[in-house]
Amino acid sequence: MMYPNWLSQRAYLNGNRMALSFEDQQWTFAELNGIALEYAGKLAAAGVTKNSRVAFLSKSHPEFVMLMYACMHAGCEMVMLNERLSKVELAYQLDDSKADLVLVDDALKDKIDSPLEMLFSELQKIEGIAFTPEAEWNPERTISIMYTSGTTGSPKGVRQTAENHFSSSVSSALNIGIAPDDVWLCTVPLFHISGFSILMRSLVYGMGVRLHPKFDAEQCAYELQSGLVTHMSVVGVTLERILSTLKELDLEVSPRFKVMLAGGGPIPPNYIHRAGSYGMSVLQTYGMTETSSQTTTLQPDDADRKVGSSGKPLFLYQVRIEGSQNPGDIGEIHIRGPQVTPGYIGKFAGREVQQDGWLHTGDMGYLDDEGFLYVVDRRSDLIVSGGENIYPAEIEKVLLEHPSVREAGVCGTQHDQWGEVPVAFVVLQDDVEKQELVEFCQTRLASYKVPKWIRKVDSLPRNASNKLLRRELKTWD
Ligand code: ATP
Ligand code: MG
Repeated sequence: MMYPNWLSQRAYLNGNRMALSFEDQQWTFAELNGIALEYAGKLAAAGVTKNSRVAFLSKSHPEFVMLMYACMHAGCEMVMLNERLSKVELAYQLDDSKADLVLVDDALKDKIDSPLEMLFSELQKIEGIAFTPEAEWNPERTISIMYTSGTTGSPKGVRQTAENHFSSSVSSALNIGIAPDDVWLCTVPLFHISGFSILMRSLVYGMGVRLHPKFDAEQCAYELQSGLVTHMSVVGVTLERILSTLKELDLEVSPRFKVMLAGGGPIPPNYIHRAGSYGMSVLQTYGMTETSSQTTTLQPDDADRKVGSSGKPLFLYQVRIEGSQNPGDIGEIHIRGPQVTPGYIGKFAGREVQQDGWLHTGDMGYLDDEGFLYVVDRRSDLIVSGGENIYPAEIEKVLLEHPSVREAGVCGTQHDQWGEVPVAFVVLQDDVEKQELVEFCQTRLASYKVPKWIRKVDSLPRNASNKLLRRELKTWD
């Protein structure tokens, strides 16, 4: 099976439909496709061919979208660099990806220092050459290469094929539904799967994208009121800020708005209730770079009954727990489906992502008696103490329930008698005795899970995705 070229096909089927809107400008699918073809001619003149690998370093704006669509016409592979990374981290990813060319947003030119670099403005000045896009795409073709967040080690470059993106879009649509006048508000980064998957849905559904350069709670609140947008992707923190802003500004949400897709971790039920009072459904999801976005989703109707769950797999996907005999048994989460990457590139190219046809996620979790998935923690962060398994996330959750604790990080440290014991680092909201925190834990956790010591710190080590780096915490004790 071959796909028709998604861009040509959309321009052919729904040429007059709004494809992209930014500030007070908008483009139809036919217009976007025309610009992408023109840019593809410039890329061809710059030496980009079907076998090239082109890296991008850009902020979210229409130019970035057009250049990515040009690359899709050109048939090359796109490496997505994260503009929040440091110069050193970027240099690592550039070297690891072996890109032939790096296209850099003029606003970010100081972030990179490479002979392969070409600014967007430089590309625009090139005289394009005649270019005919391929009429058909092989489902196995790599469209994008994205680096994981690097939470458990070095970031890994993940191949995402046309089939991965197509099945991810289709599965999401089978779950949420689609209508011809849907518009997805994108305030999440385009270089990350959360943002890029919105573009892929746009092409696969013929859906409009409303693009913001970055997340701004007030602008989102007005956008929700305006009735222009129907869908939006959020994480817990951004959802909370939108809800507070709607309340502060005393705004209503248009009845045209349908769904918030929430990723990155469990969303507190009170956010879901507050969103519900504005008529908004919040779908909590579990996914990763290796699965090109969501794999499981919790429906709002189940949110109260299944607090902390990430829901059930989307229709095309399967989830199993390694070694589990009974509901509730914790083991590594394995995933199977057409959204799973065929593999990594660069330093991790040799690592098999799929074993016996399943993706071994490195996340620990369980399925309850109704088949709802609960993600417990990362396998690599598991603490084994006197033969008992301890998950740092469980202890962090308890510490965070204390009103004086703003952030908490837990890791294991060597212990003569028990092998390892858990220890905690906390960032405080207001001062509190360490002893009080220990006692707080004692009333809520089995004694072997109570941190052996707690240290007050000013901040916790986090990566560019704001995820806690427990491997770094381990070097702090
Ligand atoms: P690396 O693989 O480099 O260590 P990473 O796994 O943090 O980095 P991502 O692909 O950005 O990189 O993140 C996916 C991970 O985020 C998942 O494997 C899981 O650990 C976590 N995650 C995603 N959604 C949820 C969720 N709903 N609940 C709990 N954890 C989640
Ligand atoms: Mg990972």
